[in-house]
Amino acid sequence: MVSVSTSSHAYRGRFAPSPSGPLHNGSLIAAMASFLDARVHHGRWLLRIEDIDTPRVVPGADKTIMQQLRMLDMQWDDDPVWQSQRLPLYQAAFDKLAAQDEVYGCACTRQELPLDGPYPGTCSQGLPPGRKARAWRFRVSQGVECFHDRWQGSQQQDVAATSGDFIIKRADGLWAYQLVVVVDDGAQGITHIVRGADLLESTARQRMLAQHLGVNYPTVMHVPLLLDAAGRKLSKQNHAAAMDLTRPLSTLNRAWQALGFEPLSSHDTKTFWETALERWANRYGQ
Ligand code: GLU
Repeated sequence: MVSVSTSSHAYRGRFAPSPSGPLHNGSLIAAMASFLDARVHHGRWLLRIEDIDTPRVVPGADKTIMQQLRMLDMQWDDDPVWQSQRLPLYQAAFDKLAAQDEVYGCACTRQELPLDGPYPGTCSQGLPPGRKARAWRFRVSQGVECFHDRWQGSQQQDVAATSGDFIIKRADGLWAYQLVVVVDDGAQGITHIVRGADLLESTARQRMLAQHLGVNYPTVMHVPLLLDAAGRKLSKQNHAAAMDLTRPLSTLNRAWQALGFEPLSSHDTKTFWETALERWANRYGQ
């Protein structure tokens, strides 16, 4: 086991897959990086099943993901949590924001909104006459949100100019990802987020929500994505191939190389992880 001199024994990281299918080579990268980072810092690595977007949930995918992680020798700490079992937490957070007048009902349909650019604020001062609220938006503050990303470097995002007031409760009645992820990271005491770079642009919105909910926002690291031949993120939606678990070492090495390292010539998963931990500690340990 590598030894890293650090006072970060309170490190709490997480892997938060959406169970819309099995893990694939792209999602393994985020799982691997968050796992290594937690282990190198002698922290906890929690598993959170993000099954809040029920139309996208595939029954049994949560169990498959857990099985896949176990087969790759990636054992999480504590009991996993399922977002679908935490609805009262999200309601309480929503109520807190609403009590501070930071939430408003929005009647706009997709057709009424510009194709891109921030929400124009149509309903921010009240619903147009005769219209009913469909979704609920968080009122964002003006100004540039600045933070450091451990992989991507220093970041600046102007949420008002890019997203504008964003949805925290959807028109179909479901809680939006942006809200639940902040509530859960806060409730689970997460100190470090390590996830795919597609979520970098969500970070400023999440930081803003965290501030208004009175929770600490974790340190972030957004790791590279695997792209398909057309340059799109490899995802379950564009039919990324499932991981090959009959050859766990080559599957692990592929994710490892995507993280910018030379392949490891290990004989088994145990030695793969030992070496990977050492290398990760040299680069990203404190
Ligand atoms: N559930 C999200 C996904 O699978 C990840 C959320 C996060 O790490 O913040 O893409």
